[in-house]
Amino acid sequence: MPESLPTEPVIPRSVRRVALVMAMEVEAAPLRTALDPTAIDLPGWAAGLPARLAVAPATGRRPEVLLAVNGVDPVSGVACVGTTAAALTTQVVLNLDDRPRPELVLSVGTAGGWVRAGARIGDTFLAWPHFSCHDRRIPLPGFQALGDGDLPAADLRSHAAPLGCRLGIVTTGDSLDESPTDRVRILENGGEVKEMEAAAVAWVCHLHGVPVGAVKSITDLVDSPVATPEQFTDNLAAASASLRRTTMALLERLSGATT
Ligand code: SAH
Repeated sequence: MPESLPTEPVIPRSVRRVALVMAMEVEAAPLRTALDPTAIDLPGWAAGLPARLAVAPATGRRPEVLLAVNGVDPVSGVACVGTTAAALTTQVVLNLDDRPRPELVLSVGTAGGWVRAGARIGDTFLAWPHFSCHDRRIPLPGFQALGDGDLPAADLRSHAAPLGCRLGIVTTGDSLDESPTDRVRILENGGEVKEMEAAAVAWVCHLHGVPVGAVKSITDLVDSPVATPEQFTDNLAAASASLRRTTMALLERLSGATT
């Protein structure tokens, strides 16, 4: 873990409000069905963003859940994957005019893993101990720390074994492939979970002092001979179903209903 990271705020023992920030509606669909949340409008100051918000009230077994999905880009017509939309959605989630802030934000989605790190398709990871960025190279004095984007993750370790999750460093970049320079950086940063949003969600949460974690389901193995897009497409539905199972069980545990 890099030295001199800020301290991660502690998660309350019984969490009352959680926000799930997700990139693609396909990933979110099973969770949307399970939570059956009610759509809410974006605040006026965020008008124009494609993000989609919905709230599921607390029940005896889970906290209130704010489900936020980045939405569809009006130019390309596809889901807004990547860090820009993730950061904007997170800023909205943390600053809704008439709602108290979530006590925990989770970046939930699919990700790549590595055979070399023992990952298998369908594995689910909780981010630990930190988030990192692998495609921001800024070799100017002091700026590489900004580029690396290392920020601590909320301590969800006690939930990993009961949920059948692994723990790992989540490394974020704005590309689906792994360029040779990304590969070098990832070997250095110890990344085990490769995706395109979590470090951006974490950055905004840290600006606001809100604990942030991640639940990531492996759709593809970066160092497999099969092309990543092919693996991703083949495994997306199964991974999204596994995200629903793991996230629903984690929510129950966070509310204190299960220990
Ligand atoms: N080809 C896909 C595009 C999805 S982009 C499609 O047409 O639907 C990949 C999304 O899944 C991002 O939100 C990212 O966070 C995640 N992801 C899954 N596997 C990844 C990998 N190997 N590298 C980077 N992001 C990955």
